[in-house]
Amino acid sequence: MPAQLIDGIALSKSIRADVAHRIAHLKSRGIQPRLSIVLVGDDPASQVYTRHKVNDSTETGLEATLERYPADLPEADLLARIRTLNADPAVHGILVQLPLPAHMDAQKVIEAIAPSKDVDGFHVSSAGALMVGRPGFWPCTPYGCMKMLESIGFSLRGKHAVVIGRSNIVGKPMAMMLLQQNATVTICHSATADLGAMTRQADVIVAAVGKRNVLTADMVKPGAVVIDVGMNRNDEGKLCGDVDFEGVRQVAGWITPVPGGVGPMTRAMLLVNTLEAAERATR
Ligand code: NAP
Repeated sequence: MPAQLIDGIALSKSIRADVAHRIAHLKSRGIQPRLSIVLVGDDPASQVYTRHKVNDSTETGLEATLERYPADLPEADLLARIRTLNADPAVHGILVQLPLPAHMDAQKVIEAIAPSKDVDGFHVSSAGALMVGRPGFWPCTPYGCMKMLESIGFSLRGKHAVVIGRSNIVGKPMAMMLLQQNATVTICHSATADLGAMTRQADVIVAAVGKRNVLTADMVKPGAVVIDVGMNRNDEGKLCGDVDFEGVRQVAGWITPVPGGVGPMTRAMLLVNTLEAAERATR
């Protein structure tokens, strides 16, 4: 029997509805949750992403402002702008769209954001909070993956989860979140000698690589849950993930599609984090 789909579009809709409800409650107390998005340069993908973030925010009642700066903006000017946003009590979340132009130190820029407004969850303080299990902001993509696992009632306790990829924004925080739910976690990467030997043992596989067909049917234990974070283009130029979807769905128990899986969940979790920042600021 083919795997059941975990529908990121349907789940993200219900999360957005909940966010809208909580925002309406804040507004009834005279609080307008606000997100400041900063875009430097004219990277075409970043322009699309930031536009989505503004539209998503507006739809749920969040106020989002998009500040655009030229690619040659001096780093010091960006840092000064972030300091001003940090000090503005009307701004609850700050998001600097990545990638930044090459003359900027992206980590330094992220570290300039007040941890209480770090709704992307990329600040070292957010990463540390996740590591020690304290309240902070979880990066939106792995946070969305966790919500997907929760939505199917999958208990991670004692299960073996394999995360393919170890970036600071997806793979590592994903592994930490799974660990906190008492899964046994293996992190794989480009130097992993035999990826299939690892994934075949897994009850849950999260693929976050950025290469097509990294995970094929022969690498999956029957019934496993497969979460596909990857975003690639196939030969026809269509969006596809890291997983050989047609093959793996014949073996897995659950699978996320691309498109319509992790992508919409990532977008929804930014709204959750921004709302959370506003709620915390006014508690
Ligand atoms: P990244 O920083 O490039 O990390 C990719 C990881 O994959 C690295 O850890 C790399 O290992 C590992 N890797 C490369 N080739 C491998 C192989 N053959 N076998 C095993 N591991 C391999 O990418 P990222 O930012 O984490 O993003 C990963 C993918 O997720 C991309 O397609 C990205 O577009 C997508 N993404 C999607 C969303 C969404 O909302 N759907 C959000 C974020 C990212 P090394 O560390 O050894 O180099």
